[in-house]
Amino acid sequence: MGDLFGQVATIVRNPNAYAAMPGSGPQGRKCKECANYVRQYSRTQRSFPKCGMVKSTSGKGTDILANSPACHWFAEAAESAQKKNGTTRVPSR
Ligand code: SF4
Repeated sequence: MGDLFGQVATIVRNPNAYAAMPGSGPQGRKCKECANYVRQYSRTQRSFPKCGMVKSTSGKGTDILANSPACHWFAEAAESAQKKNGTTRVPSR
């Protein structure tokens, strides 16, 4: 349920981990579809989702949610553009 203007409030756990306020980008897009979305791996190969535009501290404070609504710095990732267009990458030989 939204507020008086139909806006749905978004609770952001680590606001400084995002390049800009989540939800300020294109409608329906998510961080995991962004070219700036990165997964940082620990020594034990555990992965942590991060925004590549924010300097990582290698701690929880810079972890983002992959399903967060995109911010206004959203950049179309090659894979999500291909998925959207229905094209697939052909491996080169
Ligand atoms: S939409 Fe992209 S630039 Fe914005 S916070 Fe998410 S990963 Fe970072």
